[in-house]
Amino acid sequence: MDLCDKSAFELAAMLRRREITSVELTQSVLSRIEQKEPIINAFITVTEETALKQAEAADRRFRSGKKVPSLNGIPIAIKDILCTKGITTTCGSAILQNYVPPYNATVVRKVLRSGAVIIGKTNMDEFAMGSSNENSAFGPARNPVNPQYVAGGSSGGSAAAVAAGEAVLALGSDTGGSIRLPSAFCGITGIKPTYGRVSRYGLVSYASSLDQVGVLGRSTRDCAMLLNVICGHDRMDSTSADAKKPDFLRSLDRGIEGIRVGLPREYFVEGIDSRVKETILAAVNLLAENGAHVIDISLPHTRYAVSAYYLVATAEASSNLARYDGVKYGLRTKTDFADSGQMYEKTRREGFGKEVKRRIMLGTFVLSAGYYEAYYKKAQQARTLVREDFEKAFESVDCMIAPVSPCLPFKLGEKISDPLQMYLVDIYTVSLNLAGLPGMSINCGWADGLPVGMQIIGKPFDEQTVLRVGHAYEMMAGKK
Ligand code: GLN
Repeated sequence: MDLCDKSAFELAAMLRRREITSVELTQSVLSRIEQKEPIINAFITVTEETALKQAEAADRRFRSGKKVPSLNGIPIAIKDILCTKGITTTCGSAILQNYVPPYNATVVRKVLRSGAVIIGKTNMDEFAMGSSNENSAFGPARNPVNPQYVAGGSSGGSAAAVAAGEAVLALGSDTGGSIRLPSAFCGITGIKPTYGRVSRYGLVSYASSLDQVGVLGRSTRDCAMLLNVICGHDRMDSTSADAKKPDFLRSLDRGIEGIRVGLPREYFVEGIDSRVKETILAAVNLLAENGAHVIDISLPHTRYAVSAYYLVATAEASSNLARYDGVKYGLRTKTDFADSGQMYEKTRREGFGKEVKRRIMLGTFVLSAGYYEAYYKKAQQARTLVREDFEKAFESVDCMIAPVSPCLPFKLGEKISDPLQMYLVDIYTVSLNLAGLPGMSINCGWADGLPVGMQIIGKPFDEQTVLRVGHAYEMMAGKK
């Protein structure tokens, strides 16, 4: 096993004992990138030079003998939707291909303060719109398990990088499943925290009432380490919650004796691949054998979730993406234009990809006079019903277990020409964003050589239970 394949937890201990240096570890990651990138395409930008400088600085901190921060010397990849000062931040879009932010997102600032080494910016679906990473203007990230398959989206690059040893940890964002789905498809662990748990200052907005920053890693414990660094109140983000910040590592080992695990009935019915279903139910059995109480629950409005999500998300996106007009950010058309209106039009036509245009049009339509009540307002009402389902079910359980995706990873090109098929992949993930709940994807087995992800859903601000169950499962299954 190369250094770059080890867990962050183990590497942090090795670094602390001075058995390895951060420069050695960073070089191990960089040579893996060199070897794998021609196929995987997990990165839009690799920041080799600054990474090595940061690694040297981390090693100096170790040598100084002073107390070092928790992620000192650990290489981490950042989704290209998070602003990085002086480093191009494209959001997977041609319209931002030359955009260099003058500031760091709060989470980037925190990661740097924790001593981590930023290895580069990861590939993603354009503006985080997609489930397969095929909507990137920079070509799709491929699945390290089998490069004929998609890595999942939209944080496909982050998931692929962690799975391939091209990074030890990664940051992602999740509006409707974008951390959980690629984690499931690439066989790693990823958590979307509660809405408001992590600052979104410097996260390029997609759908502001749903967007949340989160983490991807090789195990629950690795994710907990990074979550400890990034969460907390931020006065730069008015939606960030002033909630108590627990130590997520501390409660990991408490076991699951007596924990009440809900299985939402509606998540295991028609539409789910039987191989996915069986793998997850086997994992649930293992939890039950180890002391968890499994309880049948109902989330009756589940069938409205995908429609409500795609109305709310596109409506908010149409408004958020109005800022890309060739004036304030990024690209401006090189062709002639008669007036500013024509300049906007040409810039947007050239700069945005097909799926982004589709969503802007859909979102504008559902917000327009005469249709607002029928679509947008209805979607908001359905959203309330979805949230209330969870509130009610959580009266009798501590967490829930569900699939992440109804299908196994699919091949590149398989669903891209049918947007509806692609949207349906999100059926089990979007409800959590509509309700603002934390959710984690962990690998719970394999079917036909492809990984299956299990989703653990928690009460608002109860990431601790989610992580605890995830960690317990990984221990029982002998995964980490
Ligand atoms: N696949 C969903 C979408 O396309 C979710 C993406 C995300 O979470 N950013 O909107």
